[in-house]
This record gives sequence, structure tokens and C-alpha cells, in this order.
Amino acid sequence: MTSSPAWIICEHCDSVYQSTALVKGQTARCVRCAAILGRGGQLSIQQLLALSISAAVLFIFANAFPVISISLQGLSNQATLWQSVQALAQGQISPMAAVAGLTIILAPFLQIVLLCWVLSFALVGRAAPGFKTCMRTLEHLRPWSMLEVCLLGILVAIVKLAGMLDVHPGLGLWALGMLTVLIILISGKGIRRLWDDLAGVIP
Ligand SMILES: [Zn+2]
Repeated sequence: MTSSPAWIICEHCDSVYQSTALVKGQTARCVRCAAILGRGGQLSIQQLLALSISAAVLFIFANAFPVISISLQGLSNQATLWQSVQALAQGQISPMAAVAGLTIILAPFLQIVLLCWVLSFALVGRAAPGFKTCMRTLEHLRPWSMLEVCLLGILVAIVKLAGMLDVHPGLGLWALGMLTVLIILISGKGIRRLWDDLAGVIP
């Protein structure tokens, strides 16, 4: 790598720009297609790592506790995320269970593990082993992580079922809500700064 000025390529129209440092509140937009190229005032590595660890704790909560509980005439039932995936697997649309498991459990889990991995090394100024693969995997995982879709689905189910049954959101649902916000915050474009921050130490 030479010390040439850093270039940014617009993801939407492939225009090339020379990158400049942005301060908090500033946004760089593509002049051709108005797509956002970058924002100023990004989170520091310490903040990103702290949020990733919080996301890991919330992920455990979201999976360990029921997201929804239903009761009717003394009978009650509750389900965790994993139990809802299992229920899908037993139904008529069993292939959906694989998709649901991938998008609401496996992809977010991998995102959190990879984020904690690369950020804990970045904190001490080092590139984690397999840094490039981890960063590229994070980019590929982003569209597959659909916690917000899952959250919306559960909320719709609660509203729809509320007329017929006694429905209560579980502790897992609150954790899922907070986790959704955290994942969007940390796995977005903010993590790409590691490429620049660690440019000198990436093998
Ligand atoms: Zn553009």
C-alpha cells in the first residue's frame, strides 16, 4: 500500500471521490446520485466495542427468555426465538425455518462475534487474525441480519392476537428491540473506519 490519498467509491453509481475528514453533523453525499458517502462524528473504537459487548448480552437475553406468551382460559404458552423456528420447521412451510433461523439467530450471532473479535484487537491498535475475511464477512452478513423484520412481525402478531387471546410481550422481546437498534448502530458503515484506522498494521 502506498500513501496515496484515500478514495471513496459511491456504492450506487461508482463515482470516485477523494475522501476528506468530516466533523460531527456533516454528511458527504454523491453529487451524481445523492447517496450518502459518509458521516462525521462516528463512534470511537471503544464505544463500538462497548456496544458490541452490550449487544452480545442482549442477544443471550433475547434467545434465553420468551419473546411472547399467550394465555387463554387458564392455559398458557410461551415461546423463545428458537422455539418459534422449531415450530416453523414442523409446519407446512418447513424451508422457512431455515431462512428464519439464518436471519434472526445465525446472522446476528456471527455479526456480534465478528464485531467483538475485530474490535477487541483494534482497541489495542492491532489487526485481528483474519481481519480482511472478518470485515468482508460482516459486509456480506448485513443484508441477512433481519432482526428488525422479526421484531415488526412479532409486534404485528401481538396486536392481531390481542383481540382473541391474552397476549404478553416477554422479556426476550424487550431485549430483541434493544438489540435491533444496537445492531443497526454498530454493524453499519461505521465499522468500515477500521480499514483506515488499521491501514498500517493490516498484513
Ligand atoms: Zn453516486
